[in-house]
Amino acid sequence: MLSHRSAEFRKCIYNITPRLCQVVGTATAPMLFTCSGTGGLEAAIANALSPGMRALAIRMGSFGDRFAEIARHLGADVINWNVPWGQAADPADVRQHLQAAHPLEAILLTHNETSTGVLNPLADLVPLIREATDGFILVDCTSSMGATAIDMDALGIDCVISATQKALMSPPGMTVIAASDRLMHVAEQRNTSSYYFDFARMQEAIAEGTTTYTPCVSTLLGLDAALGLIHAEGLDAVFHRHQSAAEHFRERLSDSGLTLFADPAVASPTVTSLCLPDGFSATEVRSRLESDHRIYVAQGRQEWKEKMLRVGHMGWFQPQELEAAAAALGSIISPPT
Ligand SMILES: *Cc1c(COP(=O)(O)O)cnc(C)c1O
Repeated sequence: MLSHRSAEFRKCIYNITPRLCQVVGTATAPMLFTCSGTGGLEAAIANALSPGMRALAIRMGSFGDRFAEIARHLGADVINWNVPWGQAADPADVRQHLQAAHPLEAILLTHNETSTGVLNPLADLVPLIREATDGFILVDCTSSMGATAIDMDALGIDCVISATQKALMSPPGMTVIAASDRLMHVAEQRNTSSYYFDFARMQEAIAEGTTTYTPCVSTLLGLDAALGLIHAEGLDAVFHRHQSAAEHFRERLSDSGLTLFADPAVASPTVTSLCLPDGFSATEVRSRLESDHRIYVAQGRQEWKEKMLRVGHMGWFQPQELEAAAAALGSIISPPT
């Protein structure tokens, strides 16, 4: 294992940060904290808000619920905008929700809602939010970063949060957080209540090619390699590959007896959510996929636990794997008679 104070490790950080900047669409080097994506969401709230400050949580599934819950836990006054599961936040509704919650210190948004397989249209939503408020716009990009465009600086997003184990196709262990200069400035002045997740100190450490405390070094070596693959393929090619694989997979399932849970207009490039026909339980279908086909998928969450399957197609995957998943699902749901 490398020492996180060594020249070799510094090289790894200096390799990672400029390439992450391109993935996210920002000029400011992202921060790297040792924790999962949820820790990253908590870090963003702790640096952007103080107890008592008001935030609007745009919730469209269980990860949006979690973001709101963390803010509430840290003492924020959270107002909820509940979007029906399977839908994206409608840009036409932005003004009304922002007005009702005014004045706001932060807006919490999920880019790709992994629990429902829906991608929010950031390019439509964020400029409308920005126009109506100067609250910090914090975006959970855990299952979108590395698979689809974020354009953080161009859109005026204040903070994006992801984790290494999703579309960044690395082992779990690190969260990736990019923050705007505006947010960094406030975070520095405010002296966050979190000792570990201090943005100002982490930004300084990253600039010196290290992290504040001992990171998951092996995960960062993996991230370095993964970013090498992403950039060798080309960002646009990577984004296109995700989108076309998702479309092809859904097309392939169109007469399988499974129906798409998400509104097709906003269906995710990284995860497909499927409703099971009556008489099938997700636990059962999932275990048959595992035991008979060695295919691993996820179930729905909350009330959709037994009625939904979620198939991931992010980061390192092959078209043949999706083809095999579609064939196996077809053979279980509508076996040839
Ligand atoms: C995976 C995920 C998270 C974080 O989950 P961890 O297990 O804490 O890494 C947060 N938000 C979304 C949208 C996710 O997909």
